[in-house]
Amino acid sequence: MIFKIKPADVFKERHNGPDKEQIQDMLATIGANSLDQLIEETVPAAIRLKKPLNLPKALSERDFLNQFGKIVKQNKVYKSYIGLGYNDTIMPPVILRNIMENPGWYTAYTPYQAEIAQGRLEALINYQTMVMDLTGMEIANASLLDEGTAAAEAMAMFFAQRKGSRKNATRFFVSDQVLPQTIDVLVTRATPLNIELVIGDHREANLEDDTLFGAILQYPAADGEVFDYTDFITKAHAQDILVVVAADILSLTLLTPPGEMGADVVVGTTQRFGVPMGFGGPHAGYFATKDAFKRVIPGRIIGISVDAAGNRAYRMALQTREQHIRREKATSNICTAQVLLAVIAGMYAVYHGPRRLKYIGLNTHVLAQQLESGLKALGFEQQNEQYFDTLKITVESADMQHAIRTEAEAAGINFRYADATTIGISINQNTDLADVKNILAVFAKVAGKAADVLSIDALPEEAEITWPESLIRKSEFLQQEVFNRHHSEHEILRYMKHLENKDISLAHSMIALGSCTMKLNATAEMIPVTWPEIGALHPFAPADQTKGYQQLFTELESWLCEITGFDGVSLQPNSGAQGEYAGLLVIRAYHESRGDHHRNVALIPSSAHGTNPASAVMAGMEVVIVKCDERGNIDVADLRAKAEKYKEKLSCLMVTYPSTHGVYEESIIEICQIIHNNGGRVYMDGANMNAQVGLTSPANIGADVCHLNLHKTFCIPHGGGGPGVGPIGVVADLVPFLPGHAVVKTGGEKATTAISAAPWGSASILPISYAYIAMMGGEGLTEATKIAILNANYIKTRLESHYPVLYVGTNGRCAHEMILDCREFKKAGVEVEDIAKRLMDYGFHAPTVSFPVAGTLMVEPTESEAQEELDRFCDVMISIREEIREIEAGKADQKDNVLKNAPHTMKAVMVENWERPYAREKAVFPMAYLRENKVWPTVSRIDSAYGDRNLVCSCAPIESYNENNNEMVAVG
Ligand SMILES: *Cc1c(COP(=O)(O)O)cnc(C)c1O
Repeated sequence: MIFKIKPADVFKERHNGPDKEQIQDMLATIGANSLDQLIEETVPAAIRLKKPLNLPKALSERDFLNQFGKIVKQNKVYKSYIGLGYNDTIMPPVILRNIMENPGWYTAYTPYQAEIAQGRLEALINYQTMVMDLTGMEIANASLLDEGTAAAEAMAMFFAQRKGSRKNATRFFVSDQVLPQTIDVLVTRATPLNIELVIGDHREANLEDDTLFGAILQYPAADGEVFDYTDFITKAHAQDILVVVAADILSLTLLTPPGEMGADVVVGTTQRFGVPMGFGGPHAGYFATKDAFKRVIPGRIIGISVDAAGNRAYRMALQTREQHIRREKATSNICTAQVLLAVIAGMYAVYHGPRRLKYIGLNTHVLAQQLESGLKALGFEQQNEQYFDTLKITVESADMQHAIRTEAEAAGINFRYADATTIGISINQNTDLADVKNILAVFAKVAGKAADVLSIDALPEEAEITWPESLIRKSEFLQQEVFNRHHSEHEILRYMKHLENKDISLAHSMIALGSCTMKLNATAEMIPVTWPEIGALHPFAPADQTKGYQQLFTELESWLCEITGFDGVSLQPNSGAQGEYAGLLVIRAYHESRGDHHRNVALIPSSAHGTNPASAVMAGMEVVIVKCDERGNIDVADLRAKAEKYKEKLSCLMVTYPSTHGVYEESIIEICQIIHNNGGRVYMDGANMNAQVGLTSPANIGADVCHLNLHKTFCIPHGGGGPGVGPIGVVADLVPFLPGHAVVKTGGEKATTAISAAPWGSASILPISYAYIAMMGGEGLTEATKIAILNANYIKTRLESHYPVLYVGTNGRCAHEMILDCREFKKAGVEVEDIAKRLMDYGFHAPTVSFPVAGTLMVEPTESEAQEELDRFCDVMISIREEIREIEAGKADQKDNVLKNAPHTMKAVMVENWERPYAREKAVFPMAYLRENKVWPTVSRIDSAYGDRNLVCSCAPIESYNENNNEMVAVG
């Protein structure tokens, strides 16, 4: 026998679901001779790329991990005492393995389908409760993108809520002790809204100035000093000025929380609750406020409601799908947030509980005290009167600072060097006495002192906190049961598994969410994320320690340029919506650079995603809606008329391609030309990039800017609603305006200020997209696009006789997704919601509900699903259609049927007296496979309105809980 030698493992054959035979079979089903013929019928010739993608040859999983391992070895993992909002921490291994490295958690989608998301919703309620308790506030959201943007959201919320004597005020006070990257993000957000920032010392702020509407303070301050802000806040309130305090979450275990000082909003990051620094992200920013603001809070809030059986159930409060994004009326564009990171930080608090959290805070503070006494003994001066974890050392000269820096770096240590003669040192959970000694050794050497001052051998049994009484936290926190019972590893392991088991993720079944591209998140792509060379770096570490990251950024940027056809990329935005905002600011800066300050009209088609108009408003633009025709395409005549009407004021068009209706509009080139002819630029929303890669590109169709959702097209998992990464690509003349950063240089020569707190945004998850491109290669990526289109058309063919398909291209083909019209079922009393809930009984997560057309489902299978899974999904959809037909035919009751009562829980069907007009079997085992493999929703249909009327957003305190919490007293 002669065998042909081929590599046993080719990654694209693992990433793409269907094999060769399945592809042939599916092509036959849809009536196409070949994949290429299908693509010709689907993608208009005028927009097709002329050349194949020029990317490096595809690597196997093994070769990728070996090669990438070498690249990241160039990163140097030093001990970081830089602080400034990023502190080393210890992720409990049980959380690392069972949440962070667990696809049951990280591949889940945003919890809009609450009945099969109770696990992560409970984890998020825990997180919200943790934030509320520690900050001393009445309500908290389920995370924002980072501390900088959370602060900017607070400013925007205050601006929209200006009151009393400050109703028309336009200035916002910023303490000069706010973190530099936060100030940078505040500048970004303030400018388009014509908010003027007043930066200064809070002790000298003139609050009588009637042009001020709000203020922000940092607690502890950037240099480490802890101020009591009670007076400031009281005086501000007397003047109708609202105050946000950016607070360090760990310090709040010991310090009086800002809520008790009267703060209106408290923001910050929960990074140091077990989430690696990751060279800047992702981490969960937090946002907590007073009850009075509950209806205007940015982002998502999880609340408690009841299900159809009257049981307690969680769901997103005050909003159905994305209605919190208020389009033209928005003050925020948050869609994807940081769910996975919030879950991790919340679980860190569950695992440690109030007592251990306080110990972590105390250890950190006491080690800082020890370091201070050691440094004083060596003759150094420490400037902070009261500090939590950060010392501010002044040295006599720049030369001395330089000598200390040289010694420190030789010892693998990074401090903060804010100016030529100060050194900042922030202690963290990962610091111990040996580390304190190592720090002291550096200073001793430079001071020419002997090492005998280093004779600290153990933490003292008792420590004294010398802060004024008013700064010492007296109130208890995290007294709820959940934070006081999962403290052994078995308990937390089972709790996490218990929550995970309530949810549907990609580990169970395909999640065919149109526009959200829930494709494979391959394990080999995920592995580098938890390597220390990726996770343990501080975002402001010196450049010579981050060469591995620099290579990753440079290569990834160049590959994304090749894929989009653009000339420059910024990796900074932390979500698609932030990418939109960044891209619009680039366009704004471009117009301003040409003296065209008046160009502020953004044309946006009516079918656009809610974030588009929201981002435009935040960028200071006036939104003008363009009509769509009856086929879902942009009405070119209307577009032309509006572009001409606003010729003098036109800033840009925002357009999604292929359209949100799942069609490659043939007129796109003409559309872009109309905009260009009228002096505007074209922003392409790249959420649908999965239908373009290798076949066409944003630059090819005539766009000037686009964002890519790396958590859609480029394999970063959704994490249950975040993290995300939304880099933007731009044409050559816009490259100079790509976003910069206050601390680390990024972007072009005329860079806008920062979009995100970290210079490269969520740097630590970029290896996922890098790995995907490296292992697929240009050919593999292009094939993935073709198969995504094949899979969508296969579903279309199988379902179109059961569900009308809205909008198709000229040859009757859809792109990578399609809209199933469910509106005609209303006559039988069946709403699209009922179908979404019934899918749960079959073990499926619903496709996208009512976007972009109300009463429809948008289905996007992606290339990663094999034919078996596509068939299973289609069989289920057909089975549900039959169930609807029974109602239509009068064979089933209009109100009491399998759809209306879906989902069916175990509790609901195991009742003694089953009184439904249909069999229990039909309720829970409508198809054979379910007898073997059943996901049981744990709650029945949730009543959202009830929860909105009785808003509860935290876990209830359990009065009966009485574990002895007094051990702290000896130390605190
Ligand atoms: C997902 C999506 C967005 C928003 O992206 P996020 O990453 O969630 O901020 C914008 N537009 C469209 C069409 C989308 O599908």
